[in-house]
Amino acid sequence: MAKLESRVPNGPLAEKWSKHKNDIRLVNPANKRNIDIIVVGTGLAGASASASLAELGYNVKTFCYQDSPRRAHSIAAQGGVNAAKNYQGDGDSVYRLFYDTIKGGDYRSREANVHRLAEVSTNIIDQCVAQGVPFAREYGGLLDNRSFGGVQVSRTFYAKGQTGQQLLLGAYSAMNRQIQRGKIKSYTRHEMLDLVLVDGKARGIIARNLVTGELERHSAHAVVLATGGYGNVFYLSTYCMGANVMAAWRAHRRGAHFANPCFTQIHPTCIPVSGDHQSKLTLMSESLRNDGRIWVPKKREDAEAIREGRLRPTDLAEEDRDYYLERRYPAFGNLVPRDVASRAAKERCDAGFGVNKTGEAVYLDFDSAIMRYGREKANTMGLKDADDKKVRALGEEIVEAKYGNLFQMYEKIVNENPYKTPMKIYPAVHYAMGGLWVDYNLMTTIPGCYAAGEANFSDHGANRLGASALMQGLADGYFVLPYTIGNYLADDIQTGAISTDLPEFEAAEKEVKERLEKLMSGSGKHSVDYYHKKLGKIMWNKCGMSRNEQGLKEAIKEIAELREDFYKNVRIPGEVIEMNSELEKAHRVADFLELGELFAVDALNRNESCGGHFREEYQTEEGEALRDDENYRYVAAWEYTGIPSEAKLHKEELVYENIELKTRSYK
Ligand SMILES: Cc1cc2nc3c(=O)[nH]c(=O)nc-3n(C[C@H](O)[C@H](O)[C@H](O)COP(=O)(O)OP(=O)(O)OC[C@H]3O[C@@H](n4cnc5c(N)ncnc54)[C@H](O)[C@@H]3O)c2cc1C
Repeated sequence: MAKLESRVPNGPLAEKWSKHKNDIRLVNPANKRNIDIIVVGTGLAGASASASLAELGYNVKTFCYQDSPRRAHSIAAQGGVNAAKNYQGDGDSVYRLFYDTIKGGDYRSREANVHRLAEVSTNIIDQCVAQGVPFAREYGGLLDNRSFGGVQVSRTFYAKGQTGQQLLLGAYSAMNRQIQRGKIKSYTRHEMLDLVLVDGKARGIIARNLVTGELERHSAHAVVLATGGYGNVFYLSTYCMGANVMAAWRAHRRGAHFANPCFTQIHPTCIPVSGDHQSKLTLMSESLRNDGRIWVPKKREDAEAIREGRLRPTDLAEEDRDYYLERRYPAFGNLVPRDVASRAAKERCDAGFGVNKTGEAVYLDFDSAIMRYGREKANTMGLKDADDKKVRALGEEIVEAKYGNLFQMYEKIVNENPYKTPMKIYPAVHYAMGGLWVDYNLMTTIPGCYAAGEANFSDHGANRLGASALMQGLADGYFVLPYTIGNYLADDIQTGAISTDLPEFEAAEKEVKERLEKLMSGSGKHSVDYYHKKLGKIMWNKCGMSRNEQGLKEAIKEIAELREDFYKNVRIPGEVIEMNSELEKAHRVADFLELGELFAVDALNRNESCGGHFREEYQTEEGEALRDDENYRYVAAWEYTGIPSEAKLHKEELVYENIELKTRSYK
């Protein structure tokens, strides 16, 4: 069975990546023309990888389930992308970005990968600017930055609240250039349903044409999975509705280890759940915490009066407000990392200070920022005697310029004007740090099968800091894979095209057909959403923001029972060989019903609290996460054995040679 070899190069940390690039094998330009690569997923990781690989000369086939690559979930990213450019001159450096990221992940990520990420972060900005990505600029024309949680410098590059969209347009344009040259063949509305292995190597995929329902075989010399994260296992999340785990899970079932599935990020600033009818949650970008102050009433009776509509937040005097993040974490204040901010909100709401009808919301208030910006603007305009009304109007203009689209989105959803009354927010599932285990070259435990972007586990440890997912996806696609994949493909220069008539393709297609038929054979008692919602409730209540042994054991049992019932009773109208969106959903939920169980097993195995993984049994007296470095300083990589709860654990011990393991304090 596949061994866990991280293949981290020797040598000093800061020289590993350069040395590795010099040492690994290359494929010459003429030979690249004889090599085919499949890239599943065209979000930022997949689009950047496929464009770069095609530019190098490989023949690339891309797949996505949307009708265009530019509709990938990456388009939703709002806040920005980190890079250690130190344009602000505020003390940033490659080392500091590396350090912040390791600390942010609560010392559960691989040093060498994170250092490489920090190194190439600066190239990402140059690459994207060259593509025409319209990053925000300062008055003098230089690129502007803002701050994100868990750091004390400004290193986040942004394009208003639409950074993901602008970055994806850049990567998509680069892809389009290759589509036009004939170097990329783009398959949209195609879903990968299985990975095909020939002689133990990834050699192709089985995909379903979602428009006709037909199954197709596609072969290649290597397969890259850039299929995004699995947070929709919680049903309600900030992910797009289609986000799923299928490609990664199918690879897992074929031999790719799944790492740290219980490391999921809960984002503190989302629009709170409003009722049972909901299928989606909306993020309010972390960038808002640059200027927004988070608070709840100091007195329970005030919180109660607000919940009952007898008191408005704007009526509450300053001394009656509890800015609990500023109180508990003075050094980082409202910009503590997401796991810390999320738990603190939950703690206040559980204690009875929540401010919406269900008691599960806190305030994000821009009043101070509006007045501060307004006063500055009035001064620069020479309006020394401007009254509060004028100052407020000037301040609102500035806040609108910075965050206008987010404020508009909030108002449309909640029907309240956030310039006049504080936003209500609550934590929600947002990102998956876990994913397919990959070595330093981004290869999974299946030779020739690579994973990039959110689909892999690589760089974020137990908690992702804001603006680091885009950085990682683009680093993987533009700057890592194009080098490392050649090292593997150098053995394939004489292999020739892989035939899809091989018995392995035949067998994989047959298995997929049988799986689809099994899904269609349910008694029809309950809809797919019925099961997805039920799974989401189990996940949120027992594997969510805080977990304990008893709840996790219950979750494992309940998910297994739900899965059994799903196959017996799910209702999928229509046919297999036609466009059938319920069948698409069912297939995705079927895999979530397996992943959910492994998720709980992983959380139960990890008897410590770290980053976003908070086990109630392991906390300090002040309620902070209590790590156990002696026993759990490892990546948990799970091998599929047939039943998710019986997966076999492999450990990749994490060695910290360049950074001191510390208590992760943000006080
Ligand atoms: C609302 C929101 C805001 C965010 N803001 C930020 C931010 O400001 N900064 C930041 O760093 N991060 C942010 N993130 C996180 C970041 O956007 C994502 O982690 C990142 O974009 C993921 O990129 P990706 O390329 O790995 O995957 P995705 O963009 O999710 O792309 C997945 C691709 O895989 C395809 N796919 C999936 N399964 C299959 C299959 N079986 N067959 C075929 N194709 C398949 C899809 O069609 C899609 O093309 C945000 C996330 C959300 C939800």
